[in-house]
Amino acid sequence: MCGIVAYIGQREAYPIVLKGLKRLEYRGYDSAGVALINNGLQVYKKKGKVAELENHVSGKDMRSHIAIGHTRWATHGEPSDRNSHPHVSGNGKLAMIHNGIIENYAQLKQELLNQGHIFKSDTDTEVLTHFIEEIQKSNHCTLEEALRIALKRVVGAYVIVIVDEDNPDTLIAARKGSPLVIGVGKGEHFLASDASPIVEYTKEVVYVNDYEIAIIKADELILKNISNERQTPYIQKLDIELAAIEKGGYDHFMLKEIFEQPQTIFDSLRGRLDAKNGTLTIGGIREHAEMLSKAKRIIIVACGTSWHAGLVAEYMIEELCRIPVEVEYASEFRYRNPVVGPGDVIIAVSQSGETADTLVAIESAKEKGAIILGVCNVVGSSIARLSDAGAYTHAGPEIGVASTKAFTAQLAVLCLIGLKVAIVKGSITQQRFQHLLDELDHIPEKVAAVLKLNDRIKEIAAKYKDARDFLYLGRGYNFPVALEGALKLKEISYIHAEGYPAAEMKHGPIALVDENLPVVFVATRDSYYEKVVSNIQEIKARKGKVIAVVTEGDQVIPGMADDIIMVPEADELVAPILSVIPLQLLAYHIGVLKGFDVDKPRNLAKSVTVE
Ligand code: GLU
Repeated sequence: MCGIVAYIGQREAYPIVLKGLKRLEYRGYDSAGVALINNGLQVYKKKGKVAELENHVSGKDMRSHIAIGHTRWATHGEPSDRNSHPHVSGNGKLAMIHNGIIENYAQLKQELLNQGHIFKSDTDTEVLTHFIEEIQKSNHCTLEEALRIALKRVVGAYVIVIVDEDNPDTLIAARKGSPLVIGVGKGEHFLASDASPIVEYTKEVVYVNDYEIAIIKADELILKNISNERQTPYIQKLDIELAAIEKGGYDHFMLKEIFEQPQTIFDSLRGRLDAKNGTLTIGGIREHAEMLSKAKRIIIVACGTSWHAGLVAEYMIEELCRIPVEVEYASEFRYRNPVVGPGDVIIAVSQSGETADTLVAIESAKEKGAIILGVCNVVGSSIARLSDAGAYTHAGPEIGVASTKAFTAQLAVLCLIGLKVAIVKGSITQQRFQHLLDELDHIPEKVAAVLKLNDRIKEIAAKYKDARDFLYLGRGYNFPVALEGALKLKEISYIHAEGYPAAEMKHGPIALVDENLPVVFVATRDSYYEKVVSNIQEIKARKGKVIAVVTEGDQVIPGMADDIIMVPEADELVAPILSVIPLQLLAYHIGVLKGFDVDKPRNLAKSVTVE
């Protein structure tokens, strides 16, 4: 959600910032803008894609060694040229980009209006820009000092970056809640919301912490906390390669990422699972495994697709560890004053590790004494850093907004965590433990087999692409898979879809069934199989069209369903990793056939950094 890029150094800043904004397009946005210093402060901004901004500035003199750029995901004020960032102070000297929300902007705005400030936009960001300018003027202080004073009054979440016409050799940035990475080059610095705009220039990065202010010159990076004390920047090495954030011959990032899954699942297991020797090592929870096995209760907190991974994990962990598990939407958990405290373990699941709702939820649970375990994909992300322990999913950068490979990696890692706790606790037999290690070990090759069904799934997509609604049904471990399938379809094809537990449909959604309604059943062979077969009959009796994902060799369902997708046999505990893949492909092909931009679906953002 929203992208921030900035550069200061010897090179031309604008092309670097523009390229960076393109790399961040995947995060979701509605307008774009840049500011640079060339004969004074120059600001260009446009509603729409980065390419429109590029056209808008063509022919202009964009030379500068300092620049800031922004892709906006509107929260305050409609997407429009005037609401786009950067926003400029009343005296025209400061330009600021902002990701997040200034929650007390209305109050600040009223104060500033009373002091005679005039606003050109509806944004909270412009208010903060004027507020900083006002403090600078009335206190006769430096921009850095004014920013510090301003931030003490600001309520909300932000990353901001400011350029000042009077100090063309300095960028000033600050963060609370939203992500900011600084790439450290030779005599140059790169700022961005994530590492993707930085990786082709330098592998050395500093993750700015909450309540830190960065004062950045070409050859100097100063970090201070809000009390003006110097902090030592902690330089880390990026472990991603440029190829990981490019399409590599695929039409879309989403398809590339679906096809990467044999490798990414392997990577999530690598170094942890040793099926041959019957061992499981998860470095990030090693010291906590004993404590986890004694947890009174586990609460999984997540949003969107990660929440679906949490639901699968609930079934896995209760089955394997016999510990009660609850799965909560982070946004609800945070605000309903939950009963949580010592003895509780919170597992926070988030691809980006920056999901604002999840981050805030775990902050308050931590304050109340719960232990936090993070399951994140982005290394060095805020949730990962706030957690007491955890495991990265190692799926590599996920650029497609609709999550695919991150989901299957989350399932793999959550399964590993469940298995580890179970074996420490002794709640699983050695034989079942070994069996599940073997099952996981074979998952990557089975995923590769499912991907071979791509052409068949494309045909099915063509057949049903004009449906107005879809129903997705599954039971047990496959119920969350049905939810995830429906979510994928909604996200990228804009077709209304509902996921439901197959038995529960009798209590309402069955009223939707007629000859026009495609119903996708996730009906692989498991302990619920016979019951699901009855549910398929119930749909057929009402003339619904059934598309069924079944286990290879199934003799029963192919005789009833209109379309069949066969996946390799797997233990029901790990089967979701396989059964979700046809649903990812089905949604992908329907989205493409309908002519939509599947990598950047409308209104959606990749890394949801506002609450
Ligand atoms: N709240 C700001 C706005 O609406 C920033 C939104 C963003 O993070 O892109 O302009």
